[in-house]
Amino acid sequence: MLETKWPYRLLAPGPVPVPPLVLKAMGEKVLHHRTPEFEKILRETWAGLQFVFGTKQTVQILAGTGTSAMEAAVVNLLSPGDQALVVVAGKFGERWAEICTRYGIKVHRLDVPWGQPVKLEEFETFLKSHRAVKAVFSQVCETSTATVHPVQKMAQIVARDSSALFAVDAITAVGCMPLPMDEWNLDCVVAGSQKAFMIPTGLSFIALSEKAWRAQAQSRLPKFYLDLAAEKAANAKGDTHFSSPTPLVIGLHLVLEQMRKNGLNSVIERCQALASATREAGGALGLKTYSEAPSSSVTALVTPEGVNSAHVRDWLEKERNITIMGGQDHLKGKILRVGHMGYITNEDMKALIQALAEVLGKAESVQTALSVLTNRLQSVESLFP
Ligand SMILES: *Cc1c(COP(=O)(O)O)cnc(C)c1O
Repeated sequence: MLETKWPYRLLAPGPVPVPPLVLKAMGEKVLHHRTPEFEKILRETWAGLQFVFGTKQTVQILAGTGTSAMEAAVVNLLSPGDQALVVVAGKFGERWAEICTRYGIKVHRLDVPWGQPVKLEEFETFLKSHRAVKAVFSQVCETSTATVHPVQKMAQIVARDSSALFAVDAITAVGCMPLPMDEWNLDCVVAGSQKAFMIPTGLSFIALSEKAWRAQAQSRLPKFYLDLAAEKAANAKGDTHFSSPTPLVIGLHLVLEQMRKNGLNSVIERCQALASATREAGGALGLKTYSEAPSSSVTALVTPEGVNSAHVRDWLEKERNITIMGGQDHLKGKILRVGHMGYITNEDMKALIQALAEVLGKAESVQTALSVLTNRLQSVESLFP
């Protein structure tokens, strides 16, 4: 870390800052994963995940980052030669397509311009012209463009017009926006620890619907570590198939306990408030919101003509010890991405806005931007003190 008088502020769309209480609990001891003490924690953690996912199905914990759960979705739902429809609206949509292609799945890409949500009529027409697809893959929030797709309606279209499974990468959605899996008829939901679950990187979560479990039993793509049926059998006995990263699970357990106590809405509202505060305060500094369907988990702000966002990002990092993200591919140098998940304090946000005003040469607007921010965040508490 930098030698600096500025405290470190992590405002990326994952990994996110971890509440101090949770960090402390994770550092207390390394429990063995096959002990009664850990089994109790595991069982409560699984129940907490079911609560956040809005499902009666088991939610599995994988010891791998979000991408491993995406790969698990593909290898557990499909067989060699199957066809899939993949929504590609940014970097993470590309990832679904790439995983499928590697496993020999025939991919039909529905390319959506970056920054735009899926258009439902186009989605419906595309699905109807590819009736043989076994599964539809999409993001809920495409993190690279900070855009949310209309997933509830997409799920209705999939159920009505096809027999396909609907699998969503909800890594920047579960726990920071409403996404009740069972109620919305989602067949596979994937999430990750370093996003709304506010613990470090390393775990991912996956849940399958009954229909998806039937497909799992038929699927013939190769899998060993990511065989969800084997994991499910172990989970049914209160165990995990392989070693469990117990400190991460202990942290997760604590976060889920707090989410249950405060209610999921309080976490979602905090993310929404941080997102609208960022859009409005950013606007006051001359930064436009990039996405046509902005997310509550991450915001992309467009830097003005002639201002390279990569320079802004580097300046924040070097001069203020604040980490945010820039844009990727053709958005490189054009946008700044600010995350709203995790243990983000109002002080963090103030520091960010002040620093942005400084680097953008907008001293005259900083008071307006800060009062917009304060108004938005005033009554919305963060999950942890
Ligand atoms: C963070 C993220 C991922 C997961 O990436 P990992 O680095 O494997 O954890 C996948 N999809 C989306 C939309 C994400 O935001």
